[in-house]
Amino acid sequence: MLKSVNPATGKIIESYETHSEKGVEKIINSTNKTWQQWKSTSFSQRASCMQNLSTVLRSRKEELARLMAIEMGKVVKEGVAEIEKCAWGCEYYAQYAESFLENEHIETEAFRSYISYQPLGTILAVMPWNFPFWQVFRFLAPTLMAGNTAVLKHASNVPGCAMAIEEMVREAGFPENVFRTLLIASKQVENVIRHPAIKAVSLTGSTPAGKSVAAIAGSVLKKCVLELGGSDPYIILEDAELEKAAKICATSRLLNAGQSCIAAKRFIVVGEVYTEFLEYFAQEMNQAIFGDPCDSETTMGPMARKDLRNELHQQVVNSVKTGAEIVLGGEIPNRKGAFYPPTILENVKPGMPAYDEELFGPVASVIRVKNEAEAIKVANDTEFGLGAAVFTRDLKNGEKIAENLLEVGCCFVNDFVKSDPRLPFGGIKTSGYGRELSTHGIKEFMNVKTVVVK
Ligand code: NAP
Repeated sequence: MLKSVNPATGKIIESYETHSEKGVEKIINSTNKTWQQWKSTSFSQRASCMQNLSTVLRSRKEELARLMAIEMGKVVKEGVAEIEKCAWGCEYYAQYAESFLENEHIETEAFRSYISYQPLGTILAVMPWNFPFWQVFRFLAPTLMAGNTAVLKHASNVPGCAMAIEEMVREAGFPENVFRTLLIASKQVENVIRHPAIKAVSLTGSTPAGKSVAAIAGSVLKKCVLELGGSDPYIILEDAELEKAAKICATSRLLNAGQSCIAAKRFIVVGEVYTEFLEYFAQEMNQAIFGDPCDSETTMGPMARKDLRNELHQQVVNSVKTGAEIVLGGEIPNRKGAFYPPTILENVKPGMPAYDEELFGPVASVIRVKNEAEAIKVANDTEFGLGAAVFTRDLKNGEKIAENLLEVGCCFVNDFVKSDPRLPFGGIKTSGYGRELSTHGIKEFMNVKTVVVK
C-alpha cells in the first residue's frame, strides 16, 4: 500500500493499492506492444497529442498545485508555476522534436551516408517527489515525442501525482499504454530494469539510489541517465552587487522549502564583503513566511516528510557539534507537521555535514574565503557537480569562472541555476551523467544509427 500523507498535518489523505508482480508484467508488456505502433506514428500525430497534454495541464493547474501542496508540501503558487513549466516543456518538444531528430547527412565516399535517430522502446523513469510533475514531464515530453513509450516508478510519497500524470496522458488522446504508472516500492525496481522489454532507465533522485540503479542496469547493459544530488556553490566576489546577490541566493535556497537538487547550498563569500553579505542574506532568509502551503500568505511550506526534516536537523546538530555556528534558525519549531525554519550556518569547515553533504532543506552553509582563487577551490571541493553560480559586476571574469573553472554541469553568472527546456540540464561527478532537456535530452534514448548506401 502506498500512502499520501499531508506533511503539514501528518494526516493520511489517501491509500493506493500497489501493483502486483503480475500487474507490473502486464503493464510493461502493454507499453511495449503500444511501442510497436507508436514508433511509426508521424511527428505531427505525436505533436498533436503533446499539445493537447499541454492544454490539459494548463486547464488543471490549480487542482494539480493543490494536490502537490497536500502530498508533499509545495506552496500552491510554486505549484502553479511548476505546472505551467510542464506545459511549456510539452509545447517545446511538440514544436522542435522533429527538427532535433532529422537525419544528419555526412559526406563520405558512399552514394549516401547519414545518421538516423531511431527510438529504443519502453523506457523506465524512476522519479523523486520534490518536483513531482516537472521531473516527470521533462522526461516524458521528449521521450514520447521521440517515439518511445514509458513506465514511471514515482516516489512512494506522491502516488496521487503519479496517477494524475497517467490520467492526463490518457485525457490528451495519446494511445492507450503509451505511458503508464507503476505503483511499486523501490525494491521492485530491479525486476523492472531486468525485464527484456525495458530498454533504458532515467533516474532522478539521490546519489545512493543512482548508484544502485546504475549497477543493476550495468549488469544487463542497459543505458542510464542519472540526475542526482547536488551541493551547489554560489560564489560572492568582492565586486558583487551584494543586496541583489543576497536576494537571489535566499530565493534559490528557500524555493520548494530548500528541497531542490539545484538549490544554492554553499555560499562562498570573499572576506572583504563577508559581513555585509551575511547581513543582507540573513535579512532575506528571515523574511520567509512558513506555514500551510495552501494559504496564499505562505512563502515556504513544510518539508515533504517528517523523517527528511529530522535527518536535515541532525546534519545541522552534527555540524554545530563540530564548530559551525547558527546565525539564523536551527531549531525544530514547536508545531505540528514537518516544518523547518530558514537556517544559516557559518564557520562551516570540511568534515562537517554542512560542508561535505547535500543539505536537502532550507539550511544555508556560509563559508568565508580569502580571495577568488580560494573561492573556486572551495566550490570544487565536493563530490557533487550539478550547478553553481558566481556573483560579480565583472561579467568577463564571471564568464571565465563559469565556463572554465567550476566543475559542474550548469553554471550561471548573477542568477540562480534553473532548468529550461531550451538548455541541457545535468551534472558531473556524483551528480550523475547524461543530459535532459534541449536537443541533448531527446537524443539520450535513441539509437544513433549510421546508414551508408553504396
Ligand atoms: P530518492 O530517495 O533517491 O528517491 C528517488 C526515486 O528513486 C524514488 O522514486 C525512490 O522510490 C527511488 N529509489 C530510491 N532508492 C532506490 C533504489 N535503491 N532502487 C531503485 N529505486 C530507488 O530521492 P528523493 O528523496 O526522492 O529526492 C531527493 C534527491 O533527489 C536529492 O538528492 C536531490 O538532489 C535529487 N534530485 C536530483 C535532481 C537532478 O535533476 N539532478 C532533481 C531532483 C532531485 P521510493 O520513494 O519508493 O523510495
